[in-house]
Amino acid sequence: MSIGASPGRAGDGDLFHAMPMGLFRLAAKEAWEVVANLAPADKGSGAFEPSQDVSCTLGNVCLIADANPSACALLQVKDPAEIVMQPLASVLPEDALKQFAGGLYRLFRGQKAIAYDGTVTIAGGGKHEVAFNLWQDVRDLAPNDIYLSFSSLRERISLEQTKDGLQSDLARSARISLLGEMTASIAHEVNQPLGTIVASAEAGLRWLSGDEPEIAEVKLLLERIAKNGKRAADVIATMREMASNRKSERVPTDINSVIEEAVLLLRTDFAKRQVTLRLDLSPTLPLVKADKTQILQVIVNLALNAAQAMSDGQAWNRTLCIRTRQGIANVAVDVEDSGPGVDPLVREKLFESFFSTKEAGIGMGLAICRSIIEAHGSRIELQSTPHLGARFSFALPAEQALANGYR
Ligand code: ADP
Repeated sequence: MSIGASPGRAGDGDLFHAMPMGLFRLAAKEAWEVVANLAPADKGSGAFEPSQDVSCTLGNVCLIADANPSACALLQVKDPAEIVMQPLASVLPEDALKQFAGGLYRLFRGQKAIAYDGTVTIAGGGKHEVAFNLWQDVRDLAPNDIYLSFSSLRERISLEQTKDGLQSDLARSARISLLGEMTASIAHEVNQPLGTIVASAEAGLRWLSGDEPEIAEVKLLLERIAKNGKRAADVIATMREMASNRKSERVPTDINSVIEEAVLLLRTDFAKRQVTLRLDLSPTLPLVKADKTQILQVIVNLALNAAQAMSDGQAWNRTLCIRTRQGIANVAVDVEDSGPGVDPLVREKLFESFFSTKEAGIGMGLAICRSIIEAHGSRIELQSTPHLGARFSFALPAEQALANGYR
């Protein structure tokens, strides 16, 4: 996916057309004007509830400027010419147009990416349930373009239904589908600003090394470096929002049952790696305020890392202990292994994106864990002893109203 780039335009087209999810580039000049001119009553206090008229207008003025093969396959369209240059309303039913209009308004208010579930209309009638992502070009090249991606929800649902027997694959697929989709795009998108940063820094050094350093030139180059660094950071921020694929939902959650679910997902993996699991879960914990899916993702990541560290490090004792403890106003979770521990040199970089010591590692797991836990108002602590193992811990706030009531 060519986030922030201009898919379908020279140079970026390959990635756009190769993406495994449906992807539209939308020409939205008129749509932006419509949104900008909405009466204050239509805009409300921020939670925009578009009227049917507004959603209909927006669906008609937004044109599908380009559609990739996955989009055509999902919509069961044989020839892209059937949908290209058609209004978006030709492939979105009324309720999806309403969601789209709401999303467009949030983009207009500065949100970087919007994710929601909805439906598309398939050729010949009928609807298909999909997960949508909507975002805007973060570069200045095509400020009026919007990108709308959609992938079938059926696969997600059937994966959920085939939990038994697929525990390990499911856990890994959740990780890989998230990371796999992101990494190729991030690598592609940040490569260019990074290239500019390196070239500008080298040019700056040359300007400084002459007999009479050209300070004005160097100032310009430093400004270019700062601008490109910010652009790369923006791309990553947008990808992060998209990766979460939906709004975070904090609800009263039984942390022990999330751990039990994570362990179920990894059962096959533990057996394969000859890891003995010890669950030390306190039976008298308050509920915590958390996004269950995200916390599940964190525990799966930490436990899988622990299992990998023990088997890759050839530890003779491979015990993974997951523990829960009650704190003053929170519940702490420890994921502890008896592997090689984390090398002090590695430790500094552990949570950085793309840092991995594994041959086939992506190096995004801990970065994502950290951002999830920080979004929950906490942090991940690491205790590590060489040759004895590592312990990753975090705490989640106890649900206020229920803090005194035990489950
Ligand atoms: P990846 O698993 O793709 O390498 P992560 O961000 O999950 O990416 O982990 C980054 C690095 O942190 C790993 O490559 C590994 O070196 C180190 N690491 C993570 N967990 C452990 C652990 N339990 N014991 C030792 N090293 C670990």
